[in-house]
Amino acid sequence: MKDVIKAIETKPWITRNIALVAHDNQKEELLDWSRQNRRLLSRHNLFATGTTGALLADSLDLPVHRFLSGPLGGDQQIGAAIAEGKIDILVFFWDPLEPQPHDPDVKALLRIATLWNAAIAVNRTTADMLITSQLFEADFPTKRPLFAAGTSRTDFVEVS
Ligand code: PGA
Repeated sequence: MKDVIKAIETKPWITRNIALVAHDNQKEELLDWSRQNRRLLSRHNLFATGTTGALLADSLDLPVHRFLSGPLGGDQQIGAAIAEGKIDILVFFWDPLEPQPHDPDVKALLRIATLWNAAIAVNRTTADMLITSQLFEADFPTKRPLFAAGTSRTDFVEVS
C-alpha cells in the first residue's frame, strides 16, 4: 500500500530549469511560443533575462526568475548558471538580422551552453521539437565536462 501511495505521490516527470531569452525583434515570437506551451512550461522552473522575463511573467502569469537585462549582463548570468549546473535547457531566440551591443555576451552564452551540453533551441522550429520530445521531461543521463586541474584534456562524464 505504501508503495502505491508513493507511486501516486511521485510526479512522473523531471522538473527542468529552463532559461528563456529573446532579442527585441524576437520577443513576440517567444511570447507566442511560450503561451502556446504554457501548460508544459508551468511544470518547470523558468528563468529569463530581465525584459524577456518581465514580459513572460506578465503574459503567462507564472513565476519567472529574472536575471539582469541581457545587455547589462543577463546573458552572462545565465551562462554562469549553466556552468554551475543550475540551468539545463536554453531557449534563446537571438536576432540574426540585427547587430547587438552585447554580441560578445551572446556568443559566450551560446558557447557555454554548447560546452555544458545544455539543450538549446535558437528558433521556433527547434523549440517546438525540443518541447515535444519524449526526453523533455524524462530522466536520462547527460554528459557534462569534468574539470581536472593540471590536465589539458577535458573529459565528459554522465550525470543524471
Ligand atoms: P532582455 O535581454 O530580455 O533584457 O531584453 C535579452 C538579450 O538581449 O539577451
